[in-house]
Amino acid sequence: MTLLAHSAEDPADSRMYLLNNGTAQSYRSAVTDSVARVSAKIAGTTRPFTGVSVDGLAPTVDGVDLDTPLHDATAALDELEEVYLRDAVYFHHPRYLAHLNCPVVIPALIGEAVLSAVNSSLDTWDQSIGGTLIERRLIDWTAGRIGFGEAADGIFTSGGSQSNLQAMLLARDEACRREPTRPDAPAQARLTDVLPRLRILTSECSHFSIRKAATLLGLGAEAVLTVPTDDRKRMRTDALADALARCQRDGLIPMAVVATAGTTDFGSIDPLPETAELCDRYGAWMHVDAAYGCGLLASRRRELLDGIEHADSVTVDYHKSFFQPVSSSAVLVRDRSTLRHVTYHADYLNPRRMAERRIPNQVDKSIQTTRRFDALKLWLTLRIMGAGAVGALFDEVIDRAAEAFALLHDDPRFDVVVAPQLSTLVFRYLPTGASDPELADRVNLHARDALFASGDAIVAGTTVDGRHYLKFTLLNPETTLEDIATVLDLIAEHAGSFLAAQPRPALSAG
Ligand SMILES: *Cc1c(COP(=O)(O)O)cnc(C)c1O
Repeated sequence: MTLLAHSAEDPADSRMYLLNNGTAQSYRSAVTDSVARVSAKIAGTTRPFTGVSVDGLAPTVDGVDLDTPLHDATAALDELEEVYLRDAVYFHHPRYLAHLNCPVVIPALIGEAVLSAVNSSLDTWDQSIGGTLIERRLIDWTAGRIGFGEAADGIFTSGGSQSNLQAMLLARDEACRREPTRPDAPAQARLTDVLPRLRILTSECSHFSIRKAATLLGLGAEAVLTVPTDDRKRMRTDALADALARCQRDGLIPMAVVATAGTTDFGSIDPLPETAELCDRYGAWMHVDAAYGCGLLASRRRELLDGIEHADSVTVDYHKSFFQPVSSSAVLVRDRSTLRHVTYHADYLNPRRMAERRIPNQVDKSIQTTRRFDALKLWLTLRIMGAGAVGALFDEVIDRAAEAFALLHDDPRFDVVVAPQLSTLVFRYLPTGASDPELADRVNLHARDALFASGDAIVAGTTVDGRHYLKFTLLNPETTLEDIATVLDLIAEHAGSFLAAQPRPALSAG
């Protein structure tokens, strides 16, 4: 590999690290070599994880002297094998079943390679040119799939949490603008009046980033009112109607209702048409958090998202169900004028006169300034494989989850919570002969940890009604039903050895 410096102090040597017309060849060979390494790594992966512990790995990372450079890319990559690549968690492995991490599609990786080398920044037209136009086309494309009209717009973000934050910011500022009390008061005074009365309504299964957003926006986490869910973990619209009526009665302002299209734990999709009706009746901003469920926009199950077109804003995480590398997400709005709440003009960057000349500066719509050209990954994905192929991958994991549900349902060793709408399964191991719920909790916590430490498979955990459960998140079409059956056997084995090591009374408690 090139990129081998002779003298650390010679400025001419330092300049050889800069990518430019003189170094294009060495960039090419250095990156090609590193890609070859990763490719060999991926090809040779036999399990998702080595099982290394924090204490096992930290000394290796801590032992690297950051003030003594290696001056050699090959040596640095050899070292990287030790500090990172060897023990990384490989999401492409069929027995990685834990979180909402997808295997990534190669067209998107081509995009990643291009975008980081060209390094456009999407805040302004004059730093991105075609990048801005490509991003805008993809926003329009997504808005079209949602069913938004001509007035729609949006922006790529770093992830669902940021998309949700921006949506809540727009909802807050729209609520403040509309509030009739003291309409002539300056914006700041109105904000102070209104802020303590704002409420966000969302289901008990919604993502924690909604509560975080409420805190960041000065509303406090208590401003989020939790609506109970039905037996399939979907927001109960009768309870939502009651909560909205209560807000009105108490002089509170329901600034937003957040419906989740694909809850993180259960993949449940809240009733979107009914939620839209209630939002309309109470003048609440409707946000749909489709961070997980957005892949349905490209799938043969598109009808599961019916009603999403009534939303005021939508969060999509292409890095979940569009098989894109982190990060790739967007927030879409039905009415582009609402994005003015994040528009600020800076003389050095995006002066007002540029907006007047209709120069497209994406920073006018974003809460970030310098911003990656993540949209390029989705562009190449659509141009090379097409949306239908992406949707087919998502459909396949949804099918697999349905099969796995049947498997779990018929297996007396396990208890499974709900039939999945998308591709997650929440379940737990049931220790036979033991009725002690604490013991069941400990068995499942142990099985998850032991499985993780073995590196044979990775599953997630969550709680249901205060009890510990395990979770499969299926996003890999390469995961077979046989893989799932194998992982269930491994869980049962770990649980069994834990139980065998328990003192007798705990076992005979039932
Ligand atoms: C993952 C997720 C988020 C957060 O998205 P990030 O990209 O991790 O920030 C928000 N909402 C839901 C429903 C999610 O599943």
